[in-house]
Amino acid sequence: MKSINWLEDSASHAMDCLLARLDSTREFRPYFWVDFKASPPEARHSYWDTCDIAGRFVDGLALARLMTGRKDGKREEEALKKYFLAQQDDKDGLFYNPDDEQDTNTEMSKYLPEAGVLTTNRHVDLFCQRSPLLALTTLLQMGDQSMLPRLENFVRGLAAIAVKDGEEYSFPAYRWAVEMKAEWYHPVNLPEKWLGYRYALLTPLARYAEISGDVLARDLALGLSRHYLKHGDVPPDGRYRANTHSGGVLPVTAGIARLGLVFDKPELVEWARKVFDWTCQNTSEFGFLPDGLGMEGFWSGTCETCALADFVHLALVLNQTGETKYWDAIERLARNQLMENQYKDAEAVKRTFPGIAPEVLAMLLGGFECAAFPNDLFNYVGAEACCIGGGLRALYLTWRSVLETDKTSARVNMAATRSDSRVSVTAFEPWEGLVEVRVAQALDVQIRLPGFVREDQVTMTVDGVPIEVKLIDRKACFGKVKPGQKAALHYPLAESERDSTIAGNTYRTRWVGNTVVSIEPVGIRHPIYQRRQLLGQRQVARVMDATRSYPSRIYW
Ligand SMILES: [Zn+2]
Repeated sequence: MKSINWLEDSASHAMDCLLARLDSTREFRPYFWVDFKASPPEARHSYWDTCDIAGRFVDGLALARLMTGRKDGKREEEALKKYFLAQQDDKDGLFYNPDDEQDTNTEMSKYLPEAGVLTTNRHVDLFCQRSPLLALTTLLQMGDQSMLPRLENFVRGLAAIAVKDGEEYSFPAYRWAVEMKAEWYHPVNLPEKWLGYRYALLTPLARYAEISGDVLARDLALGLSRHYLKHGDVPPDGRYRANTHSGGVLPVTAGIARLGLVFDKPELVEWARKVFDWTCQNTSEFGFLPDGLGMEGFWSGTCETCALADFVHLALVLNQTGETKYWDAIERLARNQLMENQYKDAEAVKRTFPGIAPEVLAMLLGGFECAAFPNDLFNYVGAEACCIGGGLRALYLTWRSVLETDKTSARVNMAATRSDSRVSVTAFEPWEGLVEVRVAQALDVQIRLPGFVREDQVTMTVDGVPIEVKLIDRKACFGKVKPGQKAALHYPLAESERDSTIAGNTYRTRWVGNTVVSIEPVGIRHPIYQRRQLLGQRQVARVMDATRSYPSRIYW
């Protein structure tokens, strides 16, 4: 967080990282893994490259371009897309993990040496269907109609390998192939065992069902949801113990929440709200969402960036039900843990990994941590590429929701800088409690007050002249603002110190407004939240730039 354009700057940095992770010697196959056990660290290909990471990268790159307007990297993007689409089977539309691993168990052994999971032989891995569905749905929404037959075929393929029982659909095993292996039906280890891995594809399937009107997609998504609600990893009260992202709980829940909203199933929304509220209760104020929520061991004290994307997504879907209490949770998470999970400082990375090759350094910088401690990064044995896609999703989802517009009005939901073709929002936290709005046509403007601000503390101005403060539901209402005018909300940035207990350890955080500027104890390998020095460095605002294409459409 170095400038008021922190969301866009972060996306641009992540896009650099994503492009650096493509292997031009292997048809632009992404590198999933940067191995920290090697000294200096080395990039390695892995089981997850082909479908899961390729899908996340196609999706992430499209979202990064929306946020940054960047036009470079087209050649790499085309090659990546070609590689990604080649993984889809022409006949059944499913994405297959190829039989190219040299040793049985090479992938899973990194996590669970005793797992004994066979990942050889060409097969469908259900977790690896999720990001291809995300990518295809993103591209379709951005106007690429050639994705439609691919998606239709994909959904038919998924329905064909699912078992239908009344109104329920289920996947009897985590992997599928024409010749099933007996052990696939008797899961004893992760990821086979937890059902969330199989149903994580509900996030994009729900969105595709919503925008396409594809009846089979709707029936399949609702049928899978019914099955998960009855037999999944989460009890009816929403209080689960599982891996939040990789275990599939939050991706499943984001899909179920959307299905409830779109297809008028209030019971699904209510269930999703319970899951989200439980997740919030277990997430620190600054957005440290445990990877292994309610679990024991290493993952109970780490935070995966992909889960932050799920958290934001689920909160946004729930906000669409008319709930507005989640904006502050989204904003605090984005300003704090999301920003701090990103590797930004080349010199600091080089100090942690002396002798790191420039091309491997580029594969880290701008990427996001998959196992952050509250005060430290690089605590795991490597860096996963999933979190580059996850980080970009979290950034995009936050950025797009800062501003909502329609024909006559503009609503600013968070104190962050973001513009579209008609409205420019400039926000100055943590340097100043100030949000400015300019418009290209006359619009009713509302700005939501940050959660820490008392209603009697705010001032409203138009062109620098105070106007009467008018608040409705904690939104400052400016009425009609005309082109050339500047509406501004001013508020004091409260300073505070708070304690959070995470995985049995207590951390003291110092806050300025919604931003954590320091944490104690200080981390050891790659300390984060070293932000006090930022406060004296207010950066110049970037004004609305007519040459950039700022989408006002909501894609997710
Ligand atoms: Zn991840």
